[in-house]
Amino acid sequence: MTDRFEQKVSAPGVRKDIRTVGDFTRIYCNGHHRDRQREPFKSAASEFGVYGHRPLVLCAECAEHLRYAEKRRAYCPKDPKPFCSYCDTHCYKAEESEWQRQMMRYAGPRSALHGYAIAGIKHALDGRAARKAHEARTRPAGRAPSGPAE
Ligand SMILES: [Zn+2]
Repeated sequence: MTDRFEQKVSAPGVRKDIRTVGDFTRIYCNGHHRDRQREPFKSAASEFGVYGHRPLVLCAECAEHLRYAEKRRAYCPKDPKPFCSYCDTHCYKAEESEWQRQMMRYAGPRSALHGYAIAGIKHALDGRAARKAHEARTRPAGRAPSGPAE
């Protein structure tokens, strides 16, 4: 499994996505868990230098969530990866998906203030494009290229 993970995280897109989630998790943890004991984050991805030279410092809970998220991203079978919110494959466990939603809602708007403006804005734009595509796909009228006709 580790070999496969190494192969996956060597893809630039995967590294970038995992790093963005890491940056967002840091913002979330800084905002919520400063009273907790926090340590430099260690994970499969951090061993491959995905998070750069500045170590993430996270509480144990956020660290667990981030380890989960980085695996899900690395093993995403879709290429190109769709925007998770609009993906038809729900690879996240419900509780992880809920955590991620809350974390992104907090960290997304703040990411611009923390020097991750480009990742944050790009994420917002990707989200808007994905929502449009999603609406176009799920609109009941007319063409449904796959699935049984109604
Ligand atoms: Zn935390």
